[in-house]
Amino acid sequence: MKKLDAKIPPGPLEQKWTYFRSHCRLVNPANKRLLDVIVIGSGLAGSSAAATLAELGYNVKVFCFQDSPRRAHSIAAQGGINAAKNYKNDGDSVYRLFYDTIKGGDYRSREANVYRLAEVSANIIDQCVAQGVPFAREYGGLLDNRSFGGTQVQRTFYAAGQTGQQLLLGAYSALSKEIAKGTVQMFSRHEMMDIVVIDGKARGIIARNLVTGELERHSAHAVLLCSGGYGNVYYLSTNAMGSNCSAAWKAYKRGAFFANPCFTQIHPTCIPVSGDHQSKLTLMSESLRNDGRIWVPKKLEDAKAIREGRKTANDIPEEDRDYYLERRYPAFGNLVPRDVASRAAKERCDAGFGVNPTGQAVFLDFSYNLKYKYGKMEAHKRGIENPTEEQLFEFGKEIIKEKYGNLFDMYKQITGDDPYVTPMKIYPAVHYTMGGLWVDYHLMTTIPGLYALGECNFSDHGANRLGASALMQGLADGYFVIPYTIGEYLADEIRTGKIPTDTPEFDEAEKAVRDRINFFINNKGSKSVDYFHKRLGKVMWDKCGMSRNEKGLKEAIEEIRQIREEFWKEVRVPGSDTEYNPELDKAGRVADFLELGELMCIDALHRNESCGGHFREEYQTEDGEAKRDDENYAYVAAWEYKGPDSPPELHKEPLVFENIKLAQRSYK
Ligand SMILES: Cc1cc2nc3c(=O)[nH]c(=O)nc-3n(C[C@H](O)[C@H](O)[C@H](O)COP(=O)(O)OP(=O)(O)OC[C@H]3O[C@@H](n4cnc5c(N)ncnc54)[C@H](O)[C@@H]3O)c2cc1C
Repeated sequence: MKKLDAKIPPGPLEQKWTYFRSHCRLVNPANKRLLDVIVIGSGLAGSSAAATLAELGYNVKVFCFQDSPRRAHSIAAQGGINAAKNYKNDGDSVYRLFYDTIKGGDYRSREANVYRLAEVSANIIDQCVAQGVPFAREYGGLLDNRSFGGTQVQRTFYAAGQTGQQLLLGAYSALSKEIAKGTVQMFSRHEMMDIVVIDGKARGIIARNLVTGELERHSAHAVLLCSGGYGNVYYLSTNAMGSNCSAAWKAYKRGAFFANPCFTQIHPTCIPVSGDHQSKLTLMSESLRNDGRIWVPKKLEDAKAIREGRKTANDIPEEDRDYYLERRYPAFGNLVPRDVASRAAKERCDAGFGVNPTGQAVFLDFSYNLKYKYGKMEAHKRGIENPTEEQLFEFGKEIIKEKYGNLFDMYKQITGDDPYVTPMKIYPAVHYTMGGLWVDYHLMTTIPGLYALGECNFSDHGANRLGASALMQGLADGYFVIPYTIGEYLADEIRTGKIPTDTPEFDEAEKAVRDRINFFINNKGSKSVDYFHKRLGKVMWDKCGMSRNEKGLKEAIEEIRQIREEFWKEVRVPGSDTEYNPELDKAGRVADFLELGELMCIDALHRNESCGGHFREEYQTEDGEAKRDDENYAYVAAWEYKGPDSPPELHKEPLVFENIKLAQRSYK
């Protein structure tokens, strides 16, 4: 049985990373040329890792399923990226970012990893500025910051509502430079179908050229999975439609442990579901909560009138509005973390106060800050002493437009409502997965030579991710962590030589991939892939979504098994395997989701506590907050695959808190 060793360096928390960097083994530049590294994924984690490793001298191959590396899902990130630079002089520090992250994650993350993340956060901003990322600036030239949930300081750097896109362009240009130099070979429109493990070590992959259908063998001394998260197991989510779990799932089936799979983030500010036709939900960035106030009517009859179209938000007078986050959490107000804000919205809607026809929406209202914060400030700057309401509106609108204009336009295009005039309607939706492949401090999985970076690993966020921290983690892993930690492993590989691909292990992996593709093409069932994916998504959302209970989870496990059985009998994949065939690609991914979904429910069922995004209805405080059980559940749950007919085995990595006192999370 594999033992979990997190390989946390010795010494005080603040010196662990420095200690590691001063003592880890290095590969000399001449030897780096002898070593091949495969990177799966070209999002922020993959691009930054690949560019940095290639610049160091390793031979790098990068794979992504999109037509261009710059289409990775990271491009969708809107709001911003955290860093403890304290530009606002409002009391920020590395320790405070560390503390907020541990607390925000409900004390279910590793202290050493989180401290390192906070420590390198400042370097990320410098690196990105040097690459030309156009972060917003204040009048004095310093980079601007805004607030995100779960914090009382302003530490979020942003580029309008396109932070992910701009950061990805920075990483992509670094990657492109290496592609041009020949140090990176780029394989776009290629999907990694399996990991090849030889003598217990990751030694390569089977990839499929998605345009021709050809299967290819690629070997390497180390494989980095940077393949993103698995939120699409719910079918409807804010993730790009192509985002999937398959790369991580293949690794799991080859021996990498899967950690905390049930920790899912539900984001409070998404455009509500409007019908069955949707395959994706749109996020309204969390940065909007900075300036928006969330409310529902105080009176049930007002809520009903709004739902039935007899009243609008603007008909409800101030005294009849319930700013429920400000009421319940006066210290943080609208800036409580996402799990808290999501549950509070659900609570109000379940109580009958929802404001759209389905009853599943609350208002996000900018009118107050638009007029009385920004409008007034602008009027004052222009020397207008008694501005009219119209002037306040026009001045405020200009400023809001500058900060969030593209998000407001997007909302209007999708809903037809003008959010400058009527409050947005929002509701929680699946957004991010905190679970993922278990990795140690070096970011290595339980398969030697196989690493996981970015959203695809479980590390750093615990049971809930604070906003603007995923981009930070992806870039920390790629630019600043893996370039050091990989050397520790590769130092032993300099004499290995080129790894051949004509071995029995490559044969076996390629055959398994080919058999599965042949099955899909030849099955000729009666139901589409989406039919099964939608059914799975509904079970997951209803029974392993915003809240869970024992009965529901047990039912979900049974239902998922039934859907899976039916899938393998009845799935229909049109077209052939020698042409570009997105239905075929999707079939393989949904087959994996159907297995992952079950593991998520098993994980959620075994964790008899509520923490962060994992809200078990049986475990809550009197006022409806998550109730942790630190005595019995302060561990990472890492699951080991034991074969198709055996239950997975649970391994526990105890979480030791030496620097932070565990406390009931309070944002009041
Ligand atoms: C709408 C939205 C807004 C967000 N806003 C923010 C924000 O403001 N701040 C923040 O910090 N975070 C935000 N996030 C979260 C953040 O964007 C992601 O967590 C992060 O970008 C993930 O980066 P990544 O590099 O790990 O993966 P991704 O960017 O998802 O990249 C995955 C890569 O893996 C490749 N891949 C996957 N499987 C395979 C395979 N089998 N074979 C080959 N290639 C494969 C894909 O082609 C892609 O290149 C947001 C997320 C969403 C959905």
